[in-house]
Amino acid sequence: MRVLIVEDELQLRQHLVDQLRRAGYVVDAAADGEEGLYFGVEYPIDIAVLDLGLPRISGIDILRRWRETGRSFPVLILTARGRWQEKVEGLEAGADDYLVKPFQMEELLARLRALVRRSAGWSATVLRCGPISLDTGTQQVQLHAQPVDLTAYEYRVLEHLMLHAGQVVSKSELTEHLYDEDLERDSNVLEVLIGRLRRKLDPTRALNPIETLRGRGYRFRLERDPQT
Ligand code: CA
Repeated sequence: MRVLIVEDELQLRQHLVDQLRRAGYVVDAAADGEEGLYFGVEYPIDIAVLDLGLPRISGIDILRRWRETGRSFPVLILTARGRWQEKVEGLEAGADDYLVKPFQMEELLARLRALVRRSAGWSATVLRCGPISLDTGTQQVQLHAQPVDLTAYEYRVLEHLMLHAGQVVSKSELTEHLYDEDLERDSNVLEVLIGRLRRKLDPTRALNPIETLRGRGYRFRLERDPQT
């Protein structure tokens, strides 16, 4: 999951970067409005945290420009205490949620998870497809109600594939959303990782949860539980 943070206060920005990385996100951070606008248009981000009070270009203007250029990722705006007009303006400019400063990091993380899930069409926190379930809150994965031990990267890949269950996800999309710029983007690494995921999720080779579509990418093949 790739998140963009647009926040001019250095300390808060650094704190957000650290906490979101720790929570497993790939993070891009912008310190002013101009940079934030550019990153949101050019980078393959999944979700943005946008401060409204920014130098150079205001958060509201950035949001309008993103929406005008067809960028539809969910946006959570950060507003100053006591400025309720900002929330209304932000929501009307295309924000999906807001938090008033100061806020608890746990609340921000929970809201981001909910926004990502809902934008992919899921309402419950636990994604269920056949015998496989993935809890986006605790990051626990189960197969036939038994825990499956995944590495952080295996979890990220599976979460992305399950969020988009039934859809083809290209290798480049997976690497862009799951790795930081400086990490290796060798597609062999991804193939090895998918291979390990398959063995862990399908030890008897009866399910075939992750399909390879030659030249196109991967597809999580099991259907979503209609309850989720
Ligand atoms: Ca600010």
